[in-house]
Amino acid sequence: MIQWYPGHMAKTKKLIIENLKLVDVVLHIIDARVPRSSYNPLIEKLSGNKPQIVVMNKADLADDAASEIWIEYYRGKGIKAVKTNARNRKGIKDVLKAAKELTESKREKMARMGYVNVPIKFMIVGIPNVGKSAVINAMAGSAKAKVGNKPGITRGKQWIRIGGEFEYLDTPGILWPKFEDEMTGYMLAFVGSIKDEVLDFEEIALKLIGILSHRYPQALLESYQLNCLSEDPYANLLSIGEKRGCRVKGGEIDALKAARIVIDDFRNGRLGNITLELPEGVKYEQ
Ligand code: GDP
Repeated sequence: MIQWYPGHMAKTKKLIIENLKLVDVVLHIIDARVPRSSYNPLIEKLSGNKPQIVVMNKADLADDAASEIWIEYYRGKGIKAVKTNARNRKGIKDVLKAAKELTESKREKMARMGYVNVPIKFMIVGIPNVGKSAVINAMAGSAKAKVGNKPGITRGKQWIRIGGEFEYLDTPGILWPKFEDEMTGYMLAFVGSIKDEVLDFEEIALKLIGILSHRYPQALLESYQLNCLSEDPYANLLSIGEKRGCRVKGGEIDALKAARIVIDDFRNGRLGNITLELPEGVKYEQ
């Protein structure tokens, strides 16, 4: 389903390991609508003792109650998770605050050795389309100031300074998704983390409709003004197509066009605030 060749993966992994050595904190950006599928546990292994902050981005599109459940879940694992909306910078301050807290003892130790005002360095990692670039821009705001190449650091690595306290690598580490099962592939397709060109939109939309009709039936009923939902996702897709006037020549309903509408509506938040995954063992309230 996705084109991650072992060679490509090995190269990316090497680069991430190299960059990790240079930073104090790792910001692992995930999509708050699919927190399980957009998280690559490899980062925990690669970063060793380095603290990571799980940045649940696109929280504005997610179900807030579910986001809180995930934050609790991470707290239980000893990992700090923060909700963000990189588009309006909500939550970005909390990420920086968390980075400060997590590096406090290290900074105190450095201060005792005479190193004061040493910026906290971090890097951003995440799978495609979770908002890595958007988070980088939100961090810097208008005060984006580049720090020149430093001696001893591989040329080409660009550090950005935020205020006097932080510096981060301008280039995010692009992680590959971890496909644990078929469902992970679907989840990543829903949120646009897999190239659209390789997707069968009708199949993806049917899967999404199937999930939504159980977990968020109102989202479908209200968004498409349907009277009721069928147990058959294809029947629902056709009803949506009918409501939206998707017809091919001859008058039949254009299922593919309807499928594209559903996926597009979901991706842009027009179906409301939705989270498609909860930690294992936690059930959706009906
Ligand atoms: P990257 O591939 O991880 O670097 O992702 P981008 O930063 O390019 O963002 C992918 C898309 O998601 C863009 O259209 C962004 O505008 C959008 N986006 C990023 N962060 C947010 C967010 O917090 N909320 C919403 N609604 N959209 C976001």
